[in-house]
Amino acid sequence: MFIDTHAHLHFHNLYSQLDDVIQRAAENGIDKIICVGIDIESTKRCIAIVEKYPIVFAAAGIHPHNSKDAPEDFLDEIGKLVNHPKVVAIGETGLDFYRDLSPRPIQIDVFTRQLQLAKKLDLPVIVHNRNADREILNVVESVGHEKGVVHCFSSDVEMAKKVLELGFKISFTGSITFGNKAVMSVIKIVPLEDIMLETDCPFLAPVPKRGKLNEPANLPHIAARIAEIKSESVEKVAAITTENATNFFNLPG
Ligand SMILES: [Zn+2]
Ligand SMILES: [Zn+2]
Repeated sequence: MFIDTHAHLHFHNLYSQLDDVIQRAAENGIDKIICVGIDIESTKRCIAIVEKYPIVFAAAGIHPHNSKDAPEDFLDEIGKLVNHPKVVAIGETGLDFYRDLSPRPIQIDVFTRQLQLAKKLDLPVIVHNRNADREILNVVESVGHEKGVVHCFSSDVEMAKKVLELGFKISFTGSITFGNKAVMSVIKIVPLEDIMLETDCPFLAPVPKRGKLNEPANLPHIAARIAEIKSESVEKVAAITTENATNFFNLPG
């Protein structure tokens, strides 16, 4: 059994064939999926999805790319959306200083306020980080919320250690199957108890599906790569990462 902790099922290329996507996920041992919003509209679609499919849960948030378009009352909106019993986290939020699709001060403001809300509501938060290690640490430290995950981890060993010191988890996508040596050293030093798995579909399909449309059914390829790097069995990686995600998102057992 696996849990895909980060899937964008709201995007049209998956949403338009969702019955098949969910069925293939179940056939490949994916027990639960977190559908992660990137703005208010996509979060509402994630909620429609969780109401239809028992194995899907949702996260409500504004992605850093979309922070410049966040409505003025976005925090109230997120506060209402998380009242839904199947919305289990705030996210995705964070900072993306690689693509810089929103001005950095706005990204930092929208991230900080979502983190404060997560702290106030005692909800886990899903953090996106690209080329913003220092600023991510600054915001998390200033808000003082310990219940978070840095998703699609692509920073170095030093950052991984700092993230773990904050009490955060780390989740990995199919990008760990692309042969990058730096991420191998990160996986080696992060205890299995702090790792969660995610596809980040429809993006980042793992080898051997690289370049194709990604979906939750591909998650076992990511688990297999972690098992290989850590010299553990896939069964053990599956069991421990599932337990981690169940506890982190407070999912039904
Ligand atoms: Zn992301
Ligand atoms: Zn994402």
